[in-house]
Amino acid sequence: MPIRVLSEQVASQIAAGEVVERPSSVVKELVENSIDAGARDVRVETRAGGKQFIRVTDDGCGVPATEIELAFQRHSTSKLMTVDDLAHITTLGFRGEALTSIAAVSRVTCVTRAAGEPVGTLLRLEGGRVVARQESGRPPGTAVTVEDLFFNVPARRKFLRTDRTERRHIDGWLTRYAMAYPALRFTLTHDDRVAFQSPGNARLRDVLIAVYGLEIGAAVLEVQPPATGIQTTGFVSPPSLHRANRGYITLFVNGRWVQDVRLTYAVIQAYHTLLPTGRYPLAVVMVRLPPEDVDVNVHPAKTEVRFRDGDAVFRAVQKAVRHTLIERSPVPIVARPPTSWPASTDQWQERRERLAGLRPHLTGEQLRLEGAQLPHPLETPAGKLPPLRVIGQVGVTYIVAEGPEGLYLIDQHAAHERILFERLLAQRQRAEVASQTLLEPQPVELAPEAASLLQEHLETLTSLGFQIEPFGRTTMLVRALPAIVAEIDPAQVLADVAAALEAGDAPLAGTVEEIVALHVCKRAAIKAGQVMAQTEMEELIRSLEQCASPRTCPHGRPTMIHLSVEQLAREFGR
Ligand code: ADP
Ligand code: MG
Repeated sequence: MPIRVLSEQVASQIAAGEVVERPSSVVKELVENSIDAGARDVRVETRAGGKQFIRVTDDGCGVPATEIELAFQRHSTSKLMTVDDLAHITTLGFRGEALTSIAAVSRVTCVTRAAGEPVGTLLRLEGGRVVARQESGRPPGTAVTVEDLFFNVPARRKFLRTDRTERRHIDGWLTRYAMAYPALRFTLTHDDRVAFQSPGNARLRDVLIAVYGLEIGAAVLEVQPPATGIQTTGFVSPPSLHRANRGYITLFVNGRWVQDVRLTYAVIQAYHTLLPTGRYPLAVVMVRLPPEDVDVNVHPAKTEVRFRDGDAVFRAVQKAVRHTLIERSPVPIVARPPTSWPASTDQWQERRERLAGLRPHLTGEQLRLEGAQLPHPLETPAGKLPPLRVIGQVGVTYIVAEGPEGLYLIDQHAAHERILFERLLAQRQRAEVASQTLLEPQPVELAPEAASLLQEHLETLTSLGFQIEPFGRTTMLVRALPAIVAEIDPAQVLADVAAALEAGDAPLAGTVEEIVALHVCKRAAIKAGQVMAQTEMEELIRSLEQCASPRTCPHGRPTMIHLSVEQLAREFGR
């Protein structure tokens, strides 16, 4: 083909690809515009995960009737004029390409009324072309509706995921902006149901409660900003609260959410020796520095930044977080669990009080929360087991054992689940999960949602010993299974895992690998009602003693009930 200049339409469709990757990118850009417009109240509505319909409504400054067409032209922005302005950008947008890009690949209706204008304007575009313009009544502010995303780019549309996945991405952006702008009220509805709402009362802790729930929201520690230098604020988890991956570390630079490996590492570094290995903190950290010290124009999506002095920012974040932890949480409870747990409730109470004495600066409420996270004798979440002697089995369900500290009743299924779970995740980390190839590959028919979920997480599944591949739209071909479930019907295992993934999109359900591992192990574990030989029980107890968290099953339920010597004596009135 001879070389030729692309039509404006084709060029803008290609350019749109950089800005609009999926429905959540539309939400992100529109919400940024609302924030830049000085809105106090931002409402986002979606249908079908945003694939069909997205509307962002704000009470910001609006667009003057004379400028509305301009707003949809490429490289049109009210936020900068010269290259020099780039050096001190204080708005989220500045590239003047979001509205154009969105309009190029969807049907957009923008209704806006600038403050001071008597009536609003409606502009409608399809695939970037204006198809309607008229006066329209509305309160000051702007509402942008985006329908049929990628209706004219089938190749892109094919790459969109299930409604649920797209909703999850949208939730991610909304919660990030709610954290970055606690004074603004954000409301998100999916298919007419409110999915998230921030209070808009300028308190970040209240936003965190809305995002992560009351328990975490109340437990996180407020970062003590340094007296001088780079301003670092936010909230971080106490060492007793941690997660299996770094996905709960959220960073903002000058009100912009950023993905920055080094700054994430700075936060992790601050917890050095305070967390068990393989565990990560939860943190929301805001860095503020003069705009001229950050280059925000690195990527069209604007989620990466370059610092003039990256080392200084790293040190500032690391120091502020570390300082907060040392100051507020002097006892690393989880990192160094006592070798023997106090046997009686009284001793337990005493330990709590001693701890309270160590932290006189904590309020009663904070202490209560920290106390709640202290292991309790009957449901100790951590701590190695002492060596146990197996006595027998009760009700073909529980193992009776004796140790230096009294009597133990162990749930054979829950305990086995715990053992398999830790083993499987450890094997995965070393990339040596045992996988068993089926004699003949077996096709498994699934619901479309389930099939697409499994496809989405193919990599994780492979790392856990599955070998499956799509075989038509709703069928998966199973070639191999994790060895521990090799005896079980592949259809059952896959259905289990898919159902778990489906249920597990709440932010606190654990990582995908944990969710999958948990359900594989649940299937593989010895059942209640199964007779166990003495040697089998001994083997199980030995393995349980090796576990990092032997006292709870991976779902968090206790694996055992412990009756201490003191308790027994008390019960018998000795
Ligand atoms: P940018 O945000 O980079 O300037 P956009 O394409 O996102 O580029 O928006 C173009 C212009 O349209 C903005 O500079 C702003 O003047 C105007 N605009 C867009 N959305 C809104 C809104 N919600 N309220 C007021 N003005 C808006
Ligand atoms: Mg913008």
